[in-house]
Amino acid sequence: MKMHSISKNIERVEAAIIEAARSAGRDPGDVCLVAVSKTRPASTIRAAYEAGLTNFGENYLQEALTKIAALEELPLTWHFIGAVQSNKTRPIAEHFHWVHTVDRRRIAQRLSDHCPAGKTLDVCLQVNIDSDPAKSGVQPDDAGKLLRETRELPRLRVRGLMTILAARSEALTSYQRLAKLFEALKKEAADPWDTLSMGMSKDFRQAIIAGATLVRVGTDIFGPRS
Ligand SMILES: *Cc1c(COP(=O)(O)O)cnc(C)c1O
Repeated sequence: MKMHSISKNIERVEAAIIEAARSAGRDPGDVCLVAVSKTRPASTIRAAYEAGLTNFGENYLQEALTKIAALEELPLTWHFIGAVQSNKTRPIAEHFHWVHTVDRRRIAQRLSDHCPAGKTLDVCLQVNIDSDPAKSGVQPDDAGKLLRETRELPRLRVRGLMTILAARSEALTSYQRLAKLFEALKKEAADPWDTLSMGMSKDFRQAIIAGATLVRVGTDIFGPRS
């Protein structure tokens, strides 16, 4: 996709974020836009950076590492949003700033163990808010336990919750449930407990109305994936 259309798309998404936030009485500055760049080449990411974005989300490790290396000179923040395989925790902890998909204790422990000295990895706990058998994530009732198990890990900073909705779920209702869980867990969390990672191209507006502080948008910025 051309630079011109990427920057137009970004303008459109940012305008929609502002509108959704204002309609909910929220400050649009409290919503971070992460551009989901899986399957897109480094040149496309560079174009999005030149149009003003600095946060990028990737799902597939090998592909991501190539692009992270190619764009090393740019001040980008990389978010891992794919399923974490336990034999991949070292490169993930080394090369990413955030991991949104921590859904079990063993993965959290390994990410902390493999995080380089002097670095802190920001993480979200992935919750299967619709209890969809096809989706990963901790069950809502078990999220408190996972939080207690992960908040003490020395190299992790547990920032909040993330979810991916079931295909048929009613977005606003599901996102409101995750927001409620986020509030309920606040008293168990260490500071800063400030991130509610929810919302994709088709439903980021509802997510913002429900309280998202971070939306993960791919298609609306870069066009359909082939
Ligand atoms: C691909 C992906 C997105 C972005 O999806 P779009 O529909 O392209 O906006 C967001 N979050 C996760 C976890 C994804 O895998």
